[in-house]
Amino acid sequence: EYVNINELFNYILDRFDMILKKETDPQQKKYTIQRKITQKDLWVEIDTDTFTQVIDNIMNNAVKYSPDGGVITARLMETKNHVIMSIADQGLGIPRKDIGHIFDRFFRVDKARSRKQGGTGLGLAISKEVVNLLGGQIWVDSIEGKGSTFYISLPYVPYDEGDEWNASED
Ligand code: ATP
Ligand code: MG
Repeated sequence: EYVNINELFNYILDRFDMILKKETDPQQKKYTIQRKITQKDLWVEIDTDTFTQVIDNIMNNAVKYSPDGGVITARLMETKNHVIMSIADQGLGIPRKDIGHIFDRFFRVDKARSRKQGGTGLGLAISKEVVNLLGGQIWVDSIEGKGSTFYISLPYVPYDEGDEWNASED
């Protein structure tokens, strides 16, 4: 199905903003989401639930592996044949030696560090599988102690208004 990815991405981020407003648990970690999202509607062929699951996992990681009060920057931009989303945090970052393993099943950076946070180490492995199934790519840039930026690119065919039905009408 073709999904307006601009709208869907904003909707997923809205839910993360809403958690903070509704949550009464003092343990809930605080964060600020900064959005740099194109205004343009971009129609991408994806499954809504699958895409939501991927963004949820990356957003949950950004919160989980950052100190309280961090800023998370979410971007959506378009290139010639792709849409690219990125989610950047100011958290723990990933040691250089581990960056190549971050998408492996059950891999978690420093067992001791991760144990306290809870989790299985499957989130990113699953995310990578489903992004690849959608024909896209997922990768990360990270500096230990500074933060991480996760990128997702998906194939995108720009919609040209001139194309509308014309070809099949005669
Ligand atoms: P879950 O299966 O619940 O998602 P998880 O969060 O440990 O568990 P992944 O999402 O696959 O598993 O992440 C794998 C590991 O990569 C994490 O345990 C953590 O060490 C590291 N990691 C992931 N995202 C970040 C991030 N934004 N900043 C720092 N480390 C991260
Ligand atoms: Mg995770």
